[in-house]
Amino acid sequence: MTESMIIVTTLEELFYARRFLDAPVGLVPTMGYLHDGHISLVEQAKRECKSVIATIFVNPTQFGPNEDLDKYPRSLERDLKLLEAAGVDIVWTPTAEVMYPAGYQTWVEVENLTKPLEGSMRPGHFRGVTTVVSKLFNATRPDKAYFGQKDAQQAAVIRQMTHDLSYPIEIVICPILREGDGLAMSSRNSYLSPEERQSATVLYRALTAAKTAFAGGEKNAEKLRQIVKDVVAAEPKAQLQYISCADYDTLAELETVSGKALLSMAVFMGKTRLIDNFILE
Ligand code: AMP
Repeated sequence: MTESMIIVTTLEELFYARRFLDAPVGLVPTMGYLHDGHISLVEQAKRECKSVIATIFVNPTQFGPNEDLDKYPRSLERDLKLLEAAGVDIVWTPTAEVMYPAGYQTWVEVENLTKPLEGSMRPGHFRGVTTVVSKLFNATRPDKAYFGQKDAQQAAVIRQMTHDLSYPIEIVICPILREGDGLAMSSRNSYLSPEERQSATVLYRALTAAKTAFAGGEKNAEKLRQIVKDVVAAEPKAQLQYISCADYDTLAELETVSGKALLSMAVFMGKTRLIDNFILE
């Protein structure tokens, strides 16, 4: 609804600009280095809301000590152009000092849903995510917030947090955008060498093989996991970290797929960790 995009950094600037937005307001949180997957979230927010706020913040508290915080790719100028072209009203680019001022000591934690999968591989990751998303919710006060199915467990954890903390916010989960060869779009794909980039289709190929078997009647979860393992094992550049076939809502590992299930995986391509998932139903 505003004429041109407003870029704010401090909370005071955000609160002032926020007052002039027409409801409903949609929020699209990102860590920047934007690709079409991010923009698809903005586009869905534009379709469903009168105003859209996007945030760009590489949140240090969701990175482990041996993870890629320092080298996480950044492209602020380009990101701002993309967000403006997509029709975003406000972009909030807080600094770490704005988010976590000296003396900061308050955390938001979702207990059970954060234990398996990404949570078990990345201790403390979801505590950082839920804390920052909670702060983004409080500061921007959106009516709807948009997240990608790409980060399936994150979506489930944020849905749980929103419910548990009684946020009056509708969580909208948007489909995974993929490259032409099936690789899920991700800022981290930029880390891949040309050879690794080619081999990285293995995630999509493995999930597709399992989904095809499922569609053909295979309901045994261990057999579906094994199909994924076999496809990844045939790709020398890829190292499987986990494959899960779990209940879509609880993320508990299944023996048999009967209701809606989440087939999700993490793979190392060299030093780069990639995740992907399919929904089985
Ligand atoms: P990030 O900048 O990686 O934190 O991602 C910001 C948001 O974009 C998250 O809700 C992600 O799940 C979502 N997202 C990332 N990649 C994709 C994709 N390929 N398709 C759809 N959404 C995505």
